[in-house]
Amino acid sequence: MLDINKIRSDFPILSQKVNGKPLVYFDNGATSQKPQVVIDAISKYYQEINANIHRGVHTLSQLATDAYEISRGKLQNHINAKFAHEVLFTSGTTHGINLVANGFASILKPGDEVLVSALEHHSNIVPWQMLCEKTGATLRVIPMNENGELIMSEYDTLLSDKTKIVTVNHISNALGTVNPIKYMIDKAHEVGAAILIDGAQAVPHLKPDVQELDCDFYVFSGHKICGPTGTGILYGKEAWLNKLPPYQGGGEMIKEVTFEKTTYAELPHKFEAGTPNIAGGIVLGTAVDYMNEVGFDNIQQQEKELLEYGTKRLLEIEGLKIFGTAKEKTSVISFNIEGIHPYDIGTIIDKLGIAVRTGHHCAQPIMDFFKIPGTLRASFAFYNTKEEIDVMVEAIKKAQLMLS
Ligand SMILES: *Cc1c(COP(=O)(O)O)cnc(C)c1O
Repeated sequence: MLDINKIRSDFPILSQKVNGKPLVYFDNGATSQKPQVVIDAISKYYQEINANIHRGVHTLSQLATDAYEISRGKLQNHINAKFAHEVLFTSGTTHGINLVANGFASILKPGDEVLVSALEHHSNIVPWQMLCEKTGATLRVIPMNENGELIMSEYDTLLSDKTKIVTVNHISNALGTVNPIKYMIDKAHEVGAAILIDGAQAVPHLKPDVQELDCDFYVFSGHKICGPTGTGILYGKEAWLNKLPPYQGGGEMIKEVTFEKTTYAELPHKFEAGTPNIAGGIVLGTAVDYMNEVGFDNIQQQEKELLEYGTKRLLEIEGLKIFGTAKEKTSVISFNIEGIHPYDIGTIIDKLGIAVRTGHHCAQPIMDFFKIPGTLRASFAFYNTKEEIDVMVEAIKKAQLMLS
């Protein structure tokens, strides 16, 4: 079991006051807070080994390069990738998806199809729309039901030999639905399609095994797993990464440059043009170490209790409706109160120190599906407590009284 007081003391921001009230941070779906070890690792890098990587023979450059590659190895182990060169550092999920979508421009032809799901974040919709515009391919959407679950029989029907790539999130940021990705990966492969998994909301809660999943691409952001912003990982199967053209040209990604012709570097450098976020990449490894020390079994246990307790307590509020009632879901509760705009409640409870997300959560098609402008979203992390949920529920009741 988690020693919750010990865990909370690892995160200095959690003992702050906001608007004169103790902070209740329930916006973990947008970004996680950072433990002291992560904060310290950032200054340690700049104090002790700052240098550019993969370039110099001098000692600091080698120390920085080693630390960067050790971190890549940690991430490789964490997701169980077969090779370290299948693990690319990116600036985040959005970057990873754009890199893959851009690469598919050299593969798709008019008439080919790209399947996205109705549950996607905008960053897993827009790059594919841009790809389809560029290539003449068609974007098709896997629909969902009223509980916010993707309809697998519809998915089966949409798949055909025209399908070239399927792209779906592991867990929905707006509703918390856990998608049956193993089934979806196997089905995509049956028709010869590639599949990308947007793991941005999954990695804070679980440890994906990319070999067992057998996905072609798996992307996530560092800032949602206690790491720094501007960091992320794109896992790609070696064969796919060799097949896709580079995303950006520049230093670091080349083997040889002349004005007649440039040859590209081997993986992973082919996709890592320019000076990367060196400190961020190194510290992402620190963040993953921290998460593993807390332990994903413990994380899941704590979050499951928070989800159950939070759901029960919120449903005590009159006129409150939860959106996203999938059988398999993580610690995200999206809700509205009849007759009150989510923004108004969000504004009032912020004054009481409570941070939740209000709006469409970068997933407007989901809001359109439910015919609502947006929701309030409380997303819990392992460092949250039931007492904080009580504080939120009381604050919402107070806001409701003021607004009705
Ligand atoms: C946060 C999120 C993204 C975008 O991540 P960035 O860090 O903003 O690039 C994409 N998909 C899902 C499901 C997310 O939750």
